[in-house]
Amino acid sequence: MEKRQELYAGKAKSVYTTDDPDLVILSFRDDTSAFDGEKVEQLSRKGEVNNKFNAFIMEKLQASGVPTHFERLLNANESLVKNMEMMPIECVVRNVSAGSLCRRLGVEEGKQLNPPIFEFFLKDDALHDPMINEYHIETFSLASYENVHKMKELTFVTNMILQDMFAKAGMILVDYKLEFGLFKGEVVLGDEFSPDGCRLWDADTGKKLDKDRFRQGLGGVIEAYEEVAQRIGVPL
Ligand code: UDP
Repeated sequence: MEKRQELYAGKAKSVYTTDDPDLVILSFRDDTSAFDGEKVEQLSRKGEVNNKFNAFIMEKLQASGVPTHFERLLNANESLVKNMEMMPIECVVRNVSAGSLCRRLGVEEGKQLNPPIFEFFLKDDALHDPMINEYHIETFSLASYENVHKMKELTFVTNMILQDMFAKAGMILVDYKLEFGLFKGEVVLGDEFSPDGCRLWDADTGKKLDKDRFRQGLGGVIEAYEEVAQRIGVPL
């Protein structure tokens, strides 16, 4: 498998073509961004930690019946994944109130959400990722009716698997964001799952162990990511 040219560079990852049109390389960089790219810093080791973290989670989800784009780890910062047509939609599940839910609805942080809340956002930094619903998705042909329901179903299956996994390691999965794509017509989980795209709190102390440490300038960002990785058994 041969790495060819850069296809796309996002805020934290770059995508490269390979000699196989069905496969691309995801390269995890140390760039860390927040507030739609307004705050950007280089955090040493972040690319490597997120690449290995993501590989571990994707393999676990795949083994539990969630189709993912992940093929294999290539090296410290790169993974081989399926070349998908990504849907410009973010799927968020919230088990505990935090972040934009609190800002939008005036809810205090830390409230248990029963049942968990599901939200769609349009992936568009220039528009600050506005919230959308099934109607926007269908009317603007962002995804078919069937695929919208598949994404929702897979996002909730992921919630059961990961809530349980993090709980066993003494952490609360507060919320997280998933992105899906189509591979040969099938809805497949893409992008990444890492502490960059979820909120994780220590179950005893409430300590934030995710990207909120970066957003809120709390320090110890990578140390927290490494602690989470070590607690769930990611080989770093
Ligand atoms: N999230 C993300 N990328 C985004 C927006 C949100 O990964 O562009 C994640 C975020 O890390 C959190 C969840 O989705 O785990 C819900 O984020 P929220 O809507 O609360 O927005 P935020 O407070 O991050 O602006």
